[in-house]
Amino acid sequence: LTQLFRPLDMLGWVYRTVQQGLIDMAEMFRLIDTPIEVADLPGAPALVVRDAGIVFDNVHFGYDPDRMILHGLNFTVEPGERIAIVGPSGAGKSTLARLLFRFYDPQAGRILISGADIRTVTQASVRAAIGIVPQDSVLFNDTIGYNIAYGRAAATPAEVTAAAMGAAIDGFIERLPQGYHTQVGERGLKLSGGEKQRVAIARTLLKNPPIILFDEATSALDSRTEQNILTTMRQVAEHRTTLTIAHRLSTIVDADRILVLDQGVLVETGSHAQLLRQAGLYAEMWSRQSVEQADHAAV
Ligand code: ADP
Ligand code: MG
Repeated sequence: LTQLFRPLDMLGWVYRTVQQGLIDMAEMFRLIDTPIEVADLPGAPALVVRDAGIVFDNVHFGYDPDRMILHGLNFTVEPGERIAIVGPSGAGKSTLARLLFRFYDPQAGRILISGADIRTVTQASVRAAIGIVPQDSVLFNDTIGYNIAYGRAAATPAEVTAAAMGAAIDGFIERLPQGYHTQVGERGLKLSGGEKQRVAIARTLLKNPPIILFDEATSALDSRTEQNILTTMRQVAEHRTTLTIAHRLSTIVDADRILVLDQGVLVETGSHAQLLRQAGLYAEMWSRQSVEQADHAAV
């Protein structure tokens, strides 16, 4: 019986804590779906991001050590680079993102940000350096302004407006009868998928991290909304290191470099044009999606 009640207790606790504004979104997800596995080393310093480069150095990881998911990942992301990560469902893309955010530690290998092994610095400082825009953004039953400022309670109204502008949702908000004070969520105004993603992007802009990770951030949107959000994402990506996990390849053709992951192994790396010439998994995925799109257009 106790077991039955535990998840509910946990949700209640998360809810109250969120209400108090004590933890950030990513932290909430961590609390809900992952056990607490990593701890700061005693006296660990904060990560200092001098340059927002990322290194995966021979990273092996499995949620269960008997079932490894990532098998020795090696790649380097230069500061300011725009990287896309693609591959079949279950390839390990989100797992890679969770490791970067240090929800888990690898069983072998290292992950470096700005040259520092992320195990040697505080988790809080690693998470402060990375903004995540997930596939489905969660809104709280509060004002739209609160939802943008969430995670940085000390933000001034001017900062909130600037973030909304960066995410191109300022015009929409200003046209609402109560502007930034409009209630959203279940008990308020329902936002469309695209509007929710813009709130998530604004939230990330306010956090102003040197690294941004989009995890299939547009895959739930219709293609016109997706195009609009992609334009915003490109602007947000300037002067930052960005990792974009994408399902629809048409959204990442202009990435500086595309990493193709298959069953936990990095099988191809290159620009869109280079990967098409290689005629491997990427080229195969590309032609399959092109056919699907043509079918779609024909209907
Ligand atoms: P992708 O994002 O590329 O679709 P994921 O990284 O989500 O793939 O998943 C990679 C593999 O890890 C899958 O086999 C999935 O079932 C497994 N997996 C994902 N999350 C967990 C988890 N929390 N616990 C155990 N296995 C997981
Ligand atoms: Mg995923």
